Amino acid sequence: MRVAVFAGSASGASPRYREAAIELGRGLAGAGVGIVYGGGHVGLMGAVADACLAAGGEVIGVMPRALVEREIAHRGLTDLQVTETMHERKAAMAEQADAFVALPGGAGTLEELFEVWTWQHLAIHTKPVAVLEVDGFWRPLLDALDTMTGNGFLKPELRSTLLVASDSASLLARAKAWQPRAPKWAGGPDPAAPPRP
Ligand code: AMP
Repeated sequence: MRVAVFAGSASGASPRYREAAIELGRGLAGAGVGIVYGGGHVGLMGAVADACLAAGGEVIGVMPRALVEREIAHRGLTDLQVTETMHERKAAMAEQADAFVALPGGAGTLEELFEVWTWQHLAIHTKPVAVLEVDGFWRPLLDALDTMTGNGFLKPELRSTLLVASDSASLLARAKAWQPRAPKWAGGPDPAAPPRP
């Protein structure tokens, strides 16, 4: 098994974020689970990769050529795959992963998380998607998702597919127990939608 990890290229304001990244990397390695990630040496990306490698785990980095220097590619990985574009990077990460998890991060982390989560809704893939909660970091985002659901923009059955884990053990337990649901449009027209004129 291999988990794609999305994570900030910064370390964040609290040491708790870095500690959580280290626990995740170490925990995945200990469980015999590999990591595929963006290939950076910096921030939480570097922390999770270093911890997994130090614990004997497999870490595959995937980075677009233009970012190899700017994001300071990690040179000690099991494998560093260089792509031409960001889109190829995300596709290569998605193909090689069995599950996805986002550590705290910024706009790039959110972009990666929301692509794989919405693609799961559309049944483009059938892999579990999770956030790793650290000191309530994801609470405002989860609240925003609940606001979308309460206002009819995000179906409750899709809202509930985003897993929330607090450590590597609960992440793996949830990912392994996860069952894909029917794709968003499989049931025909939305029964909650108003009748057509
Ligand atoms: P950040 O969370 O902004 O620190 O970014 C973390 C990771 O997301 C880094 O590996 C970035 O290369 C990646 N990233 C940034 N912007 C994008 C984007 N538009 N699409 C995909 N990945 C991105």
